[in-house]
Amino acid sequence: NYRKGGYHPVEVGDILNDRYRVERKLGWGHFSTVWFCTDLNTEGHVAIKIIRSDPTYSAAARDEIKILEQISQADPEMKERVCHLLDSFSIVGPNGKHICIVTEALGPSLLSLIRLYNHRGIPLPIVRHITKQLLQSLDFLHRKLKIIHTDLKPENILLEWPIVFTHAKTGGGMSQQSSKNKRKNDRRKKKRQGLKTQTDGPTPSDQPLTPISSLPPADSNHVTPSTSQVSEPLPHSALPTDTKIFSGTNPHPSGLEKYNVRLTDFGNACWTYRHFTTNIQTCEYRAPESIIKSKRYNTSCDIWSVACLVFEMLTGDYLFEPKKGKDYSMDEDHLALIIELIGSPPLSFIHSTPACQTLFSVTSSSISVKHIKTNDTWPLSSVLLDKYRFLDGIASETAGFLLKMLKWDTEERLTAEQLLTEDWLKEDGERDELINEKREWEELMGSPTNDEEPRPSDENV
Ligand code: ATP
Ligand code: MG
Ligand code: MG
Repeated sequence: NYRKGGYHPVEVGDILNDRYRVERKLGWGHFSTVWFCTDLNTEGHVAIKIIRSDPTYSAAARDEIKILEQISQADPEMKERVCHLLDSFSIVGPNGKHICIVTEALGPSLLSLIRLYNHRGIPLPIVRHITKQLLQSLDFLHRKLKIIHTDLKPENILLEWPIVFTHAKTGGGMSQQSSKNKRKNDRRKKKRQGLKTQTDGPTPSDQPLTPISSLPPADSNHVTPSTSQVSEPLPHSALPTDTKIFSGTNPHPSGLEKYNVRLTDFGNACWTYRHFTTNIQTCEYRAPESIIKSKRYNTSCDIWSVACLVFEMLTGDYLFEPKKGKDYSMDEDHLALIIELIGSPPLSFIHSTPACQTLFSVTSSSISVKHIKTNDTWPLSSVLLDKYRFLDGIASETAGFLLKMLKWDTEERLTAEQLLTEDWLKEDGERDELINEKREWEELMGSPTNDEEPRPSDENV
């Protein structure tokens, strides 16, 4: 990729645009490499995304800048939830001309956090907190700016968190390439087979990152890794089923109130009124309408990805991990997995694009994927209960929340604004208040007993 049209070769110490000194690499993606730099004008730090030089990537980068500018001009309070544009320029190197996008330097991505918990699930209060902030940023983008992100995935959600990651002494750290390979291996794990137990975590050599400052400390119900025990975290999904995880009285893990997440990578974003392509979203987070390449996608495709993300944060596994088979394509497998989880699509869905005629077979009694015999449905609450050992109440509450996003019909998916009012997102303190309010109310009114009809309200008396 370091060739004509590809990435720009960068060395630590390079000065970009006479202003930014490169300190270290922050990450990379399909479009770019991203560098932590010192701004020599201010002595502050920034992140610089250096885009591949091929004209297609440059065109996408110009749209990314347009979108970031639109965000910057918007409501100052809400733009806290997305990465800020600070500057942009271009440089010429041996591989061509590269657009560079300067934003604030942020912390590690959500994928690092998922890995830090060894793909065994991030504790529920943290997941709630992240989900709420993610939905706030989407509500802002969707309603105010009519922007669809189209590439929500853990790599594109950055933590703004006073944590510094360093390479562990043993193993010498993992390059981003090898961590991507590691993730590929994770994908090969059979998802819906067998219980997920503590013993199926990665080996100690898979521990490249050690937090210098520790994660939010464990409360009485959640064991979170500290610097010394990072290889042995015990997320809620691994605890014995009789462990009380959510009591309604858990304290917030301290530090969470400062723990912001920000959405980044607008390189594939578009507007509801101006799409660039039907080829959108990263496979595992792809909504059904984008699997069938419908032109009629809208902000709700991001909402589908949110459900996939929340599941992944809670369990450490992909919600859908499609594979190509001998007789079927990856898209067919994906659709079959969706049917297995939420049931068959409505007829309106399979009539929405010509591609569906080759993908689905329709009889008077059923709609199925042509080349795959779909297994019986395995409802989401049972997946959480049986495979991931969630407690009963938490499994059904969580499944209920996710299923509001996992609808075939884009109109039926709740919007970010609607999701933000869901009980599932209420953090423990807010739940305490609700419980107390209910208790006070019951003390005032007397609790209804089994042999008695609930009291009529005062108005009716
Ligand atoms: P993709 O393949 O997802 O399209 P991309 O080439 O568009 O990726 P980005 O996702 O913008 O690139 O950035 C690549 C990686 O660099 C991110 O996943 C993240 O780890 C890191 N990164 C990007 N921006 C920042 C930032 N502002 N602060 C810290 N790290 C960042
Ligand atoms: Mg990215
Ligand atoms: Mg991108």
